[in-house]
Amino acid sequence: MAIQAIDKSSVHRLTSGQVVIDLQSAVKELVENALDAGATKIEVRFRDYGLEAFEVLDNGKGIVKDDWPSIALKHHTSKLASFDELASVSTLGFRGEALSSLCGVATLSMITSTSSKPPIGTSLTFAHSGECVVGGKVARERGTTVKVERLFDTLPVRRKELVKNVKREFGKAIELINSYAIINTGVRFDVRNTAKGKTQTHLQTPTSSSIRSNYASIFAAKDLASLIDFDLTLEVPTDKSILKRIEGAMEATTLIKVKGMISKPAAPHGRTTSNRQFFYVNGRPFSPSKIAKTVNEVYKSYNSNQFPIVVADFQLAPDAYDVNVSPDKRTIFLHSETNLIRALKEQLAKFFEPQHGTFAMQAI
Ligand code: ADP
Ligand code: MG
Repeated sequence: MAIQAIDKSSVHRLTSGQVVIDLQSAVKELVENALDAGATKIEVRFRDYGLEAFEVLDNGKGIVKDDWPSIALKHHTSKLASFDELASVSTLGFRGEALSSLCGVATLSMITSTSSKPPIGTSLTFAHSGECVVGGKVARERGTTVKVERLFDTLPVRRKELVKNVKREFGKAIELINSYAIINTGVRFDVRNTAKGKTQTHLQTPTSSSIRSNYASIFAAKDLASLIDFDLTLEVPTDKSILKRIEGAMEATTLIKVKGMISKPAAPHGRTTSNRQFFYVNGRPFSPSKIAKTVNEVYKSYNSNQFPIVVADFQLAPDAYDVNVSPDKRTIFLHSETNLIRALKEQLAKFFEPQHGTFAMQAI
């Protein structure tokens, strides 16, 4: 007999490596959990660019005692109970596999507290299997600290890659935190790295802020004069291909709002690369290659040598898209994408039109 079941702990290690693919995705999961917990302040601390450890500290709601044993068990979540709820889920996480996977590929520990009166938390450590070991009491205001040590220690090839490329991987993690920090106007981010005994701040945003002020504190205040706010309403007819699949379906049009800011449509307001472009669906960062391409094309017709700086949040009804496409959730399936892109192209061109040559109107 040649076919056998893989033992449980090996399966865990194999599947964990698919959820947590790199430093960036590990950090992303912790930041998303902090946001889902309602935090208004999120600190990220890297040690040696994340190679030794990284931790995310939040002032969210904390985790109650009864939930501790389930925190790092695969497919255990407080955010979704059945597949039917996926259409209405508003949290960033919902699959209940991030912490379980992190346990499989690193050493995970936590301090959590559900109340600041008194400010006492409990420290929790986790076995690679996800089993929770309750430790002692420690001083902690309401919130949770999640610490990940020696990422990929259980996957030697991946660990070696991380060691080799750690500065680049760290850069990617910072880029990702930037994308959450810009859009979350009610949350103060503070990100630092300590290496060779020196601590450096990489990102700091104010508590109560706007997308503009977040952009200014993360990148450069001088860019603000080049950026104009937009608030577009797209009329998007349901794609024919979708209508065909639904028996008796009527032609329908959905109104989709897109809010954000973009560089003025002429040089020198743009940039030479497309690395300052942030797209979201209801505040969730995603990588929409076709939409980004469309925005760049429209921009190129006004400014042939540059790319715009752009922050764009598509406000969609929960049943108009599917985030459960890839493990990192950065690919989002949008219903009627073709028509959405067509409407976006039209509206964006219209938006740029009156400013062409003057750049004065609507500028803040
Ligand atoms: P998911 O986010 O998909 O639910 P995770 O593995 O990321 O899965 O987290 C498991 C559960 O642990 C969450 O559903 C949540 O209840 C709890 N949790 C994780 N991180 C935090 C946090 N920072 N604050 C409060 N609760 C948390
Ligand atoms: Mg999560």
